[in-house]
Amino acid sequence: MFVRALCAAVAAACLLSSCAGRSQTEGGSLATSFAPAKALSSPKKAEADSPVALTPVAWGRIGSPTALAGRTINASSLADLKLRDKEVVLTFDDGPMPKKTEKILSILDEYNVKATFLMVGQMAKAHPAIARKVVDAGHSIGSHTYRHADLQNLSFDAAVAEIEKGRDAVTSVTHEDAGFFRFPYLADTRRLRQWVANSGMVVLDVQVDSKDYFGVSPAAVATRTMNTLRAHGKGIILLHDIHARTVAMLPALLTQLKAEGYKVVRLRHSNSSMMMAWLN
Ligand SMILES: [Zn+2]
Repeated sequence: MFVRALCAAVAAACLLSSCAGRSQTEGGSLATSFAPAKALSSPKKAEADSPVALTPVAWGRIGSPTALAGRTINASSLADLKLRDKEVVLTFDDGPMPKKTEKILSILDEYNVKATFLMVGQMAKAHPAIARKVVDAGHSIGSHTYRHADLQNLSFDAAVAEIEKGRDAVTSVTHEDAGFFRFPYLADTRRLRQWVANSGMVVLDVQVDSKDYFGVSPAAVATRTMNTLRAHGKGIILLHDIHARTVAMLPALLTQLKAEGYKVVRLRHSNSSMMMAWLN
């Protein structure tokens, strides 16, 4: 009996290790799964050849031509979300999730870029300290309903209640304006979109779906994301901070974005248009 159990354990271990081995080689390594990056210009060389002495300000700008962080967009409505070519917005849905969200925060920090986290209300309530870490790290937040409901399957009133409960949960945990909103499953209706806009929230649509929720290798997710992005040239990228593969692929994705000259735009929610409306 003992021997049989041992054999079963060994067999299971072999299976696991072969699975792990396969997933590592499946899509090629993260570095090689992308098309070769275009050669970047060399701003350092240009500055070094310049006869003008570098001021401290210029020294500070040496790295900026190749930096990944782009401009900040203050958005009070959908109309403000106008991205230029080669601009992307990083969005992470469904968290916060212990360990995974925190790892994503440290990767974003390493690349000095800001993202927007669309939190599920009950997740924020379950992990309030992580939700606050997201805000403390300077990222923007929004809500994603209270329990990740498919709002197209609810009555209008029930859907509104779900959205409000989710927003209240995220706001009460973070003490921050959860000004952005994303429909779970991207399942919206015209009436609900209007209601969300009237409530002062900005709906974040998606142009580049990483599809990181499918059980594929991290390399496959990164490759698909870059391919979709190249076809669009810019856009809001949908990612999830609840999957290990998303954590695993993020450094490769950010490295590739940088190599191809993309900029990660920071979104900030602004209530200015509502305030102007009230003042008038
Ligand atoms: Zn979601």
